[in-house]
Amino acid sequence: MHELSIAQSIVDLAEEQARNHQAQCIEELELEIGSLAGIEISALEFALESCVKGTMLENARIVRQDISGEGRCGDCETPFFTDTLLNTCPACGSYMVKITRGKELRIKSIVVK
Ligand SMILES: [Zn+2]
Repeated sequence: MHELSIAQSIVDLAEEQARNHQAQCIEELELEIGSLAGIEISALEFALESCVKGTMLENARIVRQDISGEGRCGDCETPFFTDTLLNTCPACGSYMVKITRGKELRIKSIVVK
C-alpha cells in the first residue's frame, strides 16, 4: 500500500524535525495535500493512525490542508481549476496544459513541546 509508505515517511520527517529542536513530543502536525497528488485521503489517515503509535506523534493533532488542483494553458495562458491531471484548456481547447498546483504533499508545519 502506497499510502503506508507515505505515512511512514511523514512520521520519520516530523520526528527528525522535532529532534532537531530538542522536542519531547509533537503536539500538532499540519500537512498540505494536493488533490492531484494521487493520495487516497482515507487510506492515508488510516495509515497515519498506525504509523504514529509509539512515536513522538502518538498524541499529535493532525491537521490537513487540502489544496485544489490548478492548471494553466500553454497556448492562451488561461488559468483554471481542475481535479484531474488530464485536461484540455476550458478556454481554447488546447492540450498544452500545465498543472501548476495540486500535486504537493508536504509537511507544512509542526508544533513541538
Ligand atoms: Zn487555452
